[in-house]
Amino acid sequence: MLKKGFSVIAATLALAAAVPGHADEAADASANALLYAVAWKQTAAEYRALYHQGYNIARDRVDAALAARKDGDKPLAVLTDMDDTVLLPLPYWSKLTGEGKAFFDDPIWDAWVPQNDLVIAPGAKEFFEYCKEKGVEVFYITSRDQGEKTYEYALGNLKALGLPYADEEHLTVLTDSSNKEPRQQELAEKFTPVVYLGDNLNDFQRKYYIKGDVAGRIAAMEADREEFGRRFVILPNPTDGHWMAAVFGESEPADTPEARAKLVEAAKTVLR
Ligand SMILES: [Mg+2]
Repeated sequence: MLKKGFSVIAATLALAAAVPGHADEAADASANALLYAVAWKQTAAEYRALYHQGYNIARDRVDAALAARKDGDKPLAVLTDMDDTVLLPLPYWSKLTGEGKAFFDDPIWDAWVPQNDLVIAPGAKEFFEYCKEKGVEVFYITSRDQGEKTYEYALGNLKALGLPYADEEHLTVLTDSSNKEPRQQELAEKFTPVVYLGDNLNDFQRKYYIKGDVAGRIAAMEADREEFGRRFVILPNPTDGHWMAAVFGESEPADTPEARAKLVEAAKTVLR
């Protein structure tokens, strides 16, 4: 009887930990399905080294393009994403984890963005300042939506960190689509884009906007393997982005038992 009573309590506690939204969940941050990914972002020297690696490659590409430039050529430009490429939302992830939440949370993100509490990506500011010094223009293209102040907040985030080219000519904010290609094509008419920077393949080309097909998205990337570390510089993001849409069918799934089951399946998937 005692044993049975104990199992009922144990089962109830296990259920409390497993069911998202349960009152006890906030107290149990260790139940966060993204805990390793967030801890890695917050602490790993390897995470930061990848930004230096990316920005060092970008600088080499700029130097090579400058050296190859001839009179009459279009001016050079660098096209970059913002979040997790130039600006790291590390305090946001800390807050989310502290609240016992897993997966991206739009209302918390939207309330946090105007606080200008982003961390500069290692190597980013130095690289953009180098571009400015060499006359290479930097264009920021981001996909965000925090209502009517979206643009003001995004510009404020860049200015708060003292980044060069933080002005209306160089910042594009897409609020109704994540498709960056129309703006990229517009810029390519006037400039020669030397390098594209992003933490999401979709920052480079729309063709990677593939949902619910992990192998298909990897195949699309493999078709462009020569571009990485050359025209495209990819930066790390294990917590969010379109890779999740390949797994879950959407990039910001709710934390449900179904989503967690898909996460387990993803972790067990081996692609060769
Ligand atoms: Mg990004």
